[in-house]
Amino acid sequence: MAILVKKFGGSSVATPEKIHGIVDRVLKEKQPEDKVVIVVSAMGDSTDDLLTLAGRVNPDMPKRELDMLLATGEQVTIALMAGAFCAKGQPAVSFTGAQAGIKTNDKYSKASIIDVEAGRVKQALDEGKVVIVAGFQGITEGGDITTLGRGGSDTTAVAVAAGLKADMCDIYTDVDGVYTADPRIVPNAKKLDEITFAEMLELARLGAGVMQPRAVEYGEHNGVAIHVRSTFHEVPGTIIRGEYTVQEKKFVIRGVAHDTNVAKLAARGVPDEPGVAYKIFAALADANVDVDMIVQSASVQQNKNDILFTVAKTDMAEALGVLEKLKAEMPFDKVDLEVNVAKVSIVGAGMLGSPGIAAGMFGALAGAGINIGVISTSEISISCLVPAEDVTKAVNAIHAHFFPQEAEH
Ligand code: ADP
Ligand code: ASP
Ligand code: MG
Repeated sequence: MAILVKKFGGSSVATPEKIHGIVDRVLKEKQPEDKVVIVVSAMGDSTDDLLTLAGRVNPDMPKRELDMLLATGEQVTIALMAGAFCAKGQPAVSFTGAQAGIKTNDKYSKASIIDVEAGRVKQALDEGKVVIVAGFQGITEGGDITTLGRGGSDTTAVAVAAGLKADMCDIYTDVDGVYTADPRIVPNAKKLDEITFAEMLELARLGAGVMQPRAVEYGEHNGVAIHVRSTFHEVPGTIIRGEYTVQEKKFVIRGVAHDTNVAKLAARGVPDEPGVAYKIFAALADANVDVDMIVQSASVQQNKNDILFTVAKTDMAEALGVLEKLKAEMPFDKVDLEVNVAKVSIVGAGMLGSPGIAAGMFGALAGAGINIGVISTSEISISCLVPAEDVTKAVNAIHAHFFPQEAEH
């Protein structure tokens, strides 16, 4: 007997035919004693459609109400999926996040899962039912519906797998696994057989949308085995695990990621004195804005600095509001905003002891005639801000440098 959690993303459940296709495959692969939980996303682009709808009613929709609205997308899929199982003679039951015991904090639109009370799911499994859980949503202690941020169904799946001590968490999607770069941008990207949690987390954080970063984190902390694989092709995908099984292979760079959900903000002419950076970033943290790259440089004026940083475009309005308020209080000269930027990054745990990696990346960009804005590094990654219109060229140039086609990965 195995406990299996299988997550299907939006494009995998986009039509009734696709939902039936999933049911057929699950029933074909399921051993009679297996306990199967299916986590689903909203059908196709319906989360985007709901966001558009909200914008037409109120461009500044209260976050609680937005979560209330967005959570309906997944609720459509769970009921249809349970219906499809029942149509094939397999007892099934659907649960919203709340019914499945997904407890979150109250940070609407990017809530974190704090606990999974899996009692009801376990009971339904013991009764021989396939359980369908709505991804991307949970409930606060006070009983309000929350959502987990875009791509949040991945995190629901991993959290449910951890809560049930599942044998495997399969993330089914519209590509065959995790690739050395987004295969839609880099046609000759290679599928990876395995990748470590640390490297996958960094790739996800830097924009590789195939997994939500929190899902990877949750998997690592709870020791959940994750298999990213195709809904439509029955081929092995990518296993995310703690360590490589093929120890003798040394990978220097594992992948190239890009992110176009980036905006660059600058506070110009801030006073050059203690506590200024603290004030700015504490105010942003209070507004729940995640700040990414940060650069401080001397301003053209004496005793003043410019502080530049990047945030997700989705946090841009919030960040602008915080800076405008501080500009009046502090005061400083002005706020600049740049939205035509993108971030390209390389990731690999092996880069630490390998000189020349940064030079290789910058050389590839130079060769493609691309100007680098901000640069930032972590122990296992290097990121460059480039003009948004150059992002495809940048990712391909960097990928070609680190993954020459004839080489084995
Ligand atoms: P789902 O709806 O199944 O959650 P997503 O669109 O969220 O699917 O994630 C799958 C997409 O992630 C792929 O279609 C691909 O374009 C993108 N992607 C970005 N980087 C990578 C990568 N390194 N490997 C595979 N897919 C990637
Ligand atoms: N439906 C949500 C989204 O589009 C969650 C998910 O698909 O994982 O982001
Ligand atoms: Mg996704």
